[in-house]
Amino acid sequence: MADAQKLEHLLGIEDLEVSSIRRLLDRGKKFKSDLEKGKKKFIHLRERTVVNLFFEPSSRTRSSFEMAAKRLDADNINFMADSSTSVVKGETLIDTAKILEAMSPDFLVLRHGSAGAPQLLSKKLEIPVINAGDGFHEHPSQALLDALTIETTKGSIEGLKVAIIGDIAHSRVARSNIYLLNKMGATVTVCGPPTLLPPHVGRLKVRETYSVQEAIEDADVVMILRIQFERQNTKQIPSNAEYYRLYGLNNNTARQLKGGAIIMHPGPMNRGVEISPQVADGSNSVILNQVTNGVAIRMAILACLEEDRNRGRV
Ligand code: ASP
Repeated sequence: MADAQKLEHLLGIEDLEVSSIRRLLDRGKKFKSDLEKGKKKFIHLRERTVVNLFFEPSSRTRSSFEMAAKRLDADNINFMADSSTSVVKGETLIDTAKILEAMSPDFLVLRHGSAGAPQLLSKKLEIPVINAGDGFHEHPSQALLDALTIETTKGSIEGLKVAIIGDIAHSRVARSNIYLLNKMGATVTVCGPPTLLPPHVGRLKVRETYSVQEAIEDADVVMILRIQFERQNTKQIPSNAEYYRLYGLNNNTARQLKGGAIIMHPGPMNRGVEISPQVADGSNSVILNQVTNGVAIRMAILACLEEDRNRGRV
Protein backbone atom coordinates (compact mmCIF):
# COMPACT_ATOMS: atom_id res chain seq x y z
CA MET A 1 0.00 0.00 0.00
CA ALA A 2 1.26 3.51 -0.84
CA ASP A 3 2.45 5.64 2.07
CA ALA A 4 -0.03 8.18 3.43
CA GLN A 5 0.52 11.73 2.17
CA LYS A 6 2.79 13.63 4.54
CA LEU A 7 1.34 17.02 5.43
CA GLU A 8 4.14 19.57 5.28
CA HIS A 9 1.91 22.60 4.67
CA LEU A 10 -1.78 23.19 4.05
CA LEU A 11 -1.84 25.18 0.83
CA GLY A 12 -5.07 24.08 -0.77
CA ILE A 13 -7.56 21.27 -1.21
CA GLU A 14 -6.71 20.65 -4.87
CA ASP A 15 -3.49 18.81 -3.97
CA LEU A 16 -4.83 16.97 -0.93
CA GLU A 17 -5.41 13.27 -1.20
CA VAL A 18 -8.77 11.89 -0.09
CA SER A 19 -7.00 10.02 2.73
CA SER A 20 -5.56 13.32 4.05
CA ILE A 21 -8.99 14.98 3.93
CA ARG A 22 -10.40 11.97 5.79
CA ARG A 23 -7.63 12.16 8.36
CA LEU A 24 -8.21 15.90 8.99
CA LEU A 25 -11.99 15.43 9.24
CA ASP A 26 -11.68 12.50 11.65
CA ARG A 27 -9.23 14.41 13.79
CA GLY A 28 -11.56 17.43 13.66
CA LYS A 29 -14.48 15.25 14.78
CA LYS A 30 -12.50 14.03 17.76
CA PHE A 31 -11.57 17.57 18.80
CA LYS A 32 -15.17 18.66 18.26
CA SER A 33 -16.46 15.94 20.54
CA ASP A 34 -13.87 16.75 23.25
CA LEU A 35 -14.67 20.47 23.00
CA GLU A 36 -18.40 19.72 23.27
CA LYS A 37 -17.70 17.82 26.47
CA GLY A 38 -16.24 21.05 27.85
CA LYS A 39 -12.53 20.27 27.44
CA LYS A 40 -10.66 23.51 26.82
CA LYS A 41 -6.98 22.61 27.10
CA PHE A 42 -5.02 20.13 25.01
CA ILE A 43 -1.27 19.71 24.95
CA HIS A 44 -0.53 18.93 21.29
CA LEU A 45 1.27 22.22 20.64
CA ARG A 46 2.88 22.87 24.01
CA GLU A 47 6.02 25.01 23.58
CA ARG A 48 5.08 25.75 19.99
CA THR A 49 4.30 29.17 18.52
CA VAL A 50 1.77 29.96 15.80
CA VAL A 51 2.06 33.24 13.88
CA ASN A 52 -1.01 34.58 12.09
CA LEU A 53 0.10 36.88 9.28
CA PHE A 54 -2.95 38.55 7.73
CA PHE A 55 -2.83 40.95 4.78
CA GLU A 56 -6.62 41.04 4.38
CA PRO A 57 -9.43 41.64 6.87
CA SER A 58 -10.74 38.66 8.79
CA SER A 59 -13.05 38.08 11.74
CA ARG A 60 -13.76 34.34 11.85
CA THR A 61 -10.63 32.79 10.34
CA ARG A 62 -8.08 34.75 12.35
CA SER A 63 -9.85 34.43 15.70
CA SER A 64 -10.56 30.77 14.97
CA PHE A 65 -6.88 29.98 14.26
CA GLU A 66 -5.97 31.94 17.38
CA MET A 67 -8.49 30.02 19.47
CA ALA A 68 -7.31 26.71 17.98
CA ALA A 69 -3.66 27.49 18.76
CA LYS A 70 -4.52 28.47 22.33
CA ARG A 71 -6.68 25.41 22.92
CA LEU A 72 -3.65 23.32 21.84
CA ASP A 73 -1.49 25.22 24.35
CA ALA A 74 0.61 27.07 21.75
CA ASP A 75 1.76 30.66 22.00
CA ASN A 76 0.16 32.84 19.37
CA ILE A 77 1.14 36.09 17.68
CA ASN A 78 -1.24 38.03 15.46
CA PHE A 79 0.36 40.23 12.82
CA MET A 80 -2.14 42.31 10.85
CA ALA A 81 -0.17 43.71 7.93
CA ASP A 82 -1.87 47.11 7.94
CA SER A 83 -0.82 50.76 8.02
CA SER A 84 0.76 50.33 11.46
CA THR A 85 3.44 47.95 10.12
CA SER A 86 6.51 48.22 7.91
CA VAL A 87 4.51 46.80 5.02
CA VAL A 88 3.56 50.42 4.23
CA LYS A 89 7.28 51.25 4.08
CA GLY A 90 7.66 48.90 1.12
CA GLU A 91 8.74 45.68 2.81
CA THR A 92 8.04 42.65 0.62
CA LEU A 93 5.91 39.69 1.63
CA ILE A 94 8.98 37.46 1.73
CA ASP A 95 10.94 39.91 3.92
CA THR A 96 8.02 40.32 6.33
CA ALA A 97 7.63 36.55 6.59
CA LYS A 98 11.39 36.07 7.02
CA ILE A 99 11.60 38.55 9.90
CA LEU A 100 8.76 36.75 11.63
CA GLU A 101 10.45 33.41 11.00
CA ALA A 102 13.64 34.80 12.55
CA MET A 103 11.75 34.95 15.86
CA SER A 104 11.44 31.13 15.78
CA PRO A 105 7.74 30.41 15.41
CA ASP A 106 6.69 26.89 14.46
CA PHE A 107 3.77 27.58 12.10
CA LEU A 108 2.77 30.44 9.85
CA VAL A 109 -0.90 31.04 9.03
CA LEU A 110 -1.13 33.36 6.03
CA ARG A 111 -3.98 35.31 4.47
CA HIS A 112 -3.06 37.32 1.40
CA GLY A 113 -4.84 39.03 -1.48
CA SER A 114 -2.68 37.33 -4.13
CA ALA A 115 -3.35 33.81 -5.30
CA GLY A 116 -0.24 31.71 -4.75
CA ALA A 117 1.25 33.74 -1.85
CA PRO A 118 1.19 30.74 0.57
CA GLN A 119 2.80 28.49 -2.08
CA LEU A 120 5.56 31.07 -2.49
CA LEU A 121 6.23 31.30 1.24
CA SER A 122 6.18 27.51 1.63
CA LYS A 123 9.25 27.45 -0.63
CA LYS A 124 11.05 30.24 1.24
CA LEU A 125 10.42 29.26 4.87
CA GLU A 126 11.43 26.23 6.91
CA ILE A 127 8.17 26.05 8.88
CA PRO A 128 4.73 24.76 7.84
CA VAL A 129 2.60 27.36 6.05
CA ILE A 130 -1.18 27.25 6.34
CA ASN A 131 -3.25 29.03 3.71
CA ALA A 132 -5.97 31.09 5.43
CA GLY A 133 -7.23 32.41 2.07
CA ASP A 134 -5.21 33.55 -0.96
CA GLY A 135 -6.98 35.92 -3.33
CA PHE A 136 -9.73 34.09 -5.13
CA HIS A 137 -7.69 30.89 -5.26
CA GLU A 138 -8.29 28.69 -2.18
CA HIS A 139 -9.46 28.72 1.44
CA PRO A 140 -8.77 25.14 2.54
CA SER A 141 -9.60 25.42 6.24
CA GLN A 142 -13.03 26.83 5.31
CA ALA A 143 -13.77 23.87 3.01
CA LEU A 144 -12.66 21.44 5.72
CA LEU A 145 -14.84 23.07 8.39
CA ASP A 146 -17.74 23.07 5.93
CA ALA A 147 -17.16 19.37 5.30
CA LEU A 148 -17.10 18.68 9.04
CA THR A 149 -20.39 20.58 9.38
CA ILE A 150 -21.98 18.61 6.53
CA GLU A 151 -20.78 15.26 7.88
CA THR A 152 -21.95 15.97 11.40
CA THR A 153 -25.42 17.02 10.23
CA LYS A 154 -25.92 14.73 7.22
CA GLY A 155 -23.78 11.72 8.16
CA SER A 156 -21.72 11.54 4.97
CA ILE A 157 -20.78 13.72 2.02
CA GLU A 158 -20.85 10.91 -0.51
CA GLY A 159 -23.94 11.02 -2.72
CA LEU A 160 -25.14 14.43 -1.49
CA LYS A 161 -26.28 17.17 -3.83
CA VAL A 162 -24.73 20.52 -2.95
CA ALA A 163 -25.77 23.87 -4.47
CA ILE A 164 -23.34 26.78 -4.21
CA ILE A 165 -25.06 30.09 -4.97
CA GLY A 166 -23.45 33.49 -5.43
CA ASP A 167 -20.20 34.96 -6.66
CA ILE A 168 -18.49 31.76 -7.73
CA ALA A 169 -16.00 33.54 -10.00
CA HIS A 170 -14.27 35.48 -7.23
CA SER A 171 -14.72 33.08 -4.32
CA ARG A 172 -11.86 31.04 -2.85
CA VAL A 173 -14.46 29.34 -0.63
CA ALA A 174 -16.32 28.08 -3.71
CA ARG A 175 -13.12 26.76 -5.30
CA SER A 176 -11.91 24.88 -2.20
CA ASN A 177 -15.38 23.49 -1.54
CA ILE A 178 -15.80 22.31 -5.13
CA TYR A 179 -12.47 20.43 -4.97
CA LEU A 180 -13.31 18.86 -1.62
CA LEU A 181 -16.91 17.96 -2.38
CA ASN A 182 -15.97 16.36 -5.71
CA LYS A 183 -13.19 14.34 -4.06
CA MET A 184 -15.58 13.14 -1.35
CA GLY A 185 -18.28 12.02 -3.82
CA ALA A 186 -20.87 14.83 -3.73
CA THR A 187 -22.49 16.34 -6.82
CA VAL A 188 -22.05 20.11 -7.01
CA THR A 189 -24.24 22.65 -8.79
CA VAL A 190 -23.08 26.26 -8.98
CA CYS A 191 -25.54 29.07 -9.50
CA GLY A 192 -25.22 32.81 -10.01
CA PRO A 193 -25.63 35.52 -12.62
CA PRO A 194 -23.53 34.84 -15.75
CA THR A 195 -21.09 37.62 -14.78
CA LEU A 196 -20.34 35.90 -11.46
CA LEU A 197 -19.71 32.40 -12.80
CA PRO A 198 -16.11 31.70 -13.82
CA PRO A 199 -15.33 31.18 -17.51
CA HIS A 200 -14.80 27.48 -18.28
CA VAL A 201 -16.71 26.55 -15.12
CA GLY A 202 -17.20 23.06 -16.60
CA ARG A 203 -13.52 22.34 -15.94
CA LEU A 204 -14.33 22.39 -12.23
CA LYS A 205 -16.61 19.34 -12.75
CA VAL A 206 -19.79 21.06 -11.61
CA ARG A 207 -23.26 21.52 -13.07
CA GLU A 208 -24.11 25.19 -13.68
CA THR A 209 -27.40 27.03 -13.72
CA TYR A 210 -28.57 30.64 -13.63
CA SER A 211 -31.77 29.65 -11.82
CA VAL A 212 -31.86 29.48 -8.02
CA GLN A 213 -35.03 27.35 -8.17
CA GLU A 214 -33.27 24.80 -10.33
CA ALA A 215 -30.17 24.81 -8.10
CA ILE A 216 -32.03 24.22 -4.86
CA GLU A 217 -34.88 21.93 -5.85
CA ASP A 218 -33.05 18.69 -5.08
CA ALA A 219 -30.17 20.07 -2.96
CA ASP A 220 -29.32 18.52 0.40
CA VAL A 221 -26.93 21.38 1.17
CA VAL A 222 -27.19 24.99 0.00
CA MET A 223 -24.11 27.20 0.39
CA ILE A 224 -24.69 30.91 -0.01
CA LEU A 225 -21.75 33.16 -0.87
CA ARG A 226 -21.19 36.89 -0.51
CA ILE A 227 -20.47 38.99 -3.60
CA GLN A 228 -16.74 39.71 -3.45
CA PHE A 229 -16.94 43.37 -4.46
CA GLU A 230 -13.33 43.89 -3.33
CA ARG A 231 -12.10 41.49 -6.03
CA GLN A 232 -14.03 43.06 -8.91
CA ASN A 233 -12.67 45.86 -11.07
CA THR A 234 -16.01 46.71 -12.62
CA LYS A 235 -19.54 46.45 -11.31
CA GLN A 236 -20.78 43.02 -12.28
CA ILE A 237 -24.37 43.21 -11.08
CA PRO A 238 -26.84 46.05 -11.74
CA SER A 239 -27.70 46.59 -8.04
CA ASN A 240 -27.85 44.79 -4.70
CA ALA A 241 -31.65 45.02 -4.76
CA GLU A 242 -31.88 43.31 -8.12
CA TYR A 243 -29.38 40.66 -7.06
CA TYR A 244 -31.46 39.96 -3.96
CA ARG A 245 -34.64 39.65 -6.02
CA LEU A 246 -33.10 37.18 -8.48
CA TYR A 247 -30.39 35.33 -6.52
CA GLY A 248 -30.87 36.06 -2.82
CA LEU A 249 -32.07 33.16 -0.70
CA ASN A 250 -35.19 34.81 0.61
CA ASN A 251 -38.18 33.43 2.47
CA ASN A 252 -40.02 32.52 -0.75
CA THR A 253 -37.17 30.65 -2.40
CA ALA A 254 -36.27 28.94 0.89
CA ARG A 255 -39.77 27.43 0.95
CA GLN A 256 -38.84 25.40 -2.12
CA LEU A 257 -35.98 23.66 -0.31
CA LYS A 258 -36.10 19.91 0.07
CA GLY A 259 -37.02 18.73 3.58
CA GLY A 260 -33.93 18.45 5.76
CA ALA A 261 -31.79 20.63 3.50
CA ILE A 262 -29.23 22.70 5.38
CA ILE A 263 -28.17 26.28 4.65
CA MET A 264 -24.55 27.34 4.99
CA HIS A 265 -22.65 30.62 4.60
CA PRO A 266 -18.92 31.14 5.28
CA GLY A 267 -19.52 34.72 6.46
CA PRO A 268 -19.41 37.63 6.54
CA MET A 269 -23.08 37.74 5.54
CA ASN A 270 -24.73 40.62 3.78
CA ARG A 271 -28.27 40.23 5.02
CA GLY A 272 -30.76 41.43 2.44
CA VAL A 273 -28.28 40.93 -0.43
CA GLU A 274 -27.50 37.21 -0.73
CA ILE A 275 -29.64 35.92 2.15
CA SER A 276 -32.65 37.13 4.13
CA PRO A 277 -32.29 37.56 7.90
CA GLN A 278 -35.08 35.02 8.50
CA VAL A 279 -33.33 32.38 6.42
CA ALA A 280 -29.93 33.14 7.97
CA ASP A 281 -31.38 32.68 11.47
CA GLY A 282 -33.93 30.00 10.57
CA SER A 283 -34.09 26.37 11.64
CA ASN A 284 -32.31 25.05 8.51
CA SER A 285 -29.33 27.32 9.04
CA VAL A 286 -26.07 25.78 10.31
CA ILE A 287 -24.10 29.00 9.91
CA LEU A 288 -23.08 29.26 13.56
CA ASN A 289 -22.25 25.54 13.66
CA GLN A 290 -19.75 26.26 10.87
CA VAL A 291 -18.04 28.81 13.10
CA THR A 292 -17.95 26.40 16.05
CA ASN A 293 -16.56 23.61 13.85
CA GLY A 294 -13.91 25.97 12.53
CA VAL A 295 -12.01 25.82 15.81
CA ALA A 296 -12.02 22.00 15.88
CA ILE A 297 -10.88 21.72 12.26
CA ARG A 298 -8.09 24.27 12.73
CA MET A 299 -6.95 22.35 15.81
CA ALA A 300 -6.89 19.26 13.59
CA ILE A 301 -4.86 21.04 10.91
CA LEU A 302 -2.27 22.26 13.42
CA ALA A 303 -2.11 18.91 15.25
CA CYS A 304 -1.66 16.88 12.03
CA LEU A 305 1.03 19.24 10.71
CA GLU A 306 2.84 18.98 14.03
CA GLU A 307 2.58 15.19 13.98
CA ASP A 308 4.02 14.97 10.46
CA ARG A 309 6.76 17.47 11.25
CA ASN A 310 7.84 15.27 14.12
CA ARG A 311 7.66 12.23 11.84
CA GLY A 312 10.08 14.01 9.53
CA ARG A 313 12.51 14.66 12.38
CA VAL A 314 12.95 11.00 13.34
N1 ASP B 1 -14.60 34.74 4.78
C1 ASP B 1 -14.53 34.13 3.49
C2 ASP B 1 -13.22 34.45 2.81
O1 ASP B 1 -12.33 35.02 3.43
C3 ASP B 1 -15.70 34.45 2.62
C4 ASP B 1 -15.91 35.89 2.27
O2 ASP B 1 -15.14 36.77 2.65
O3 ASP B 1 -16.88 36.13 1.57
O4 ASP B 1 -13.05 34.13 1.66
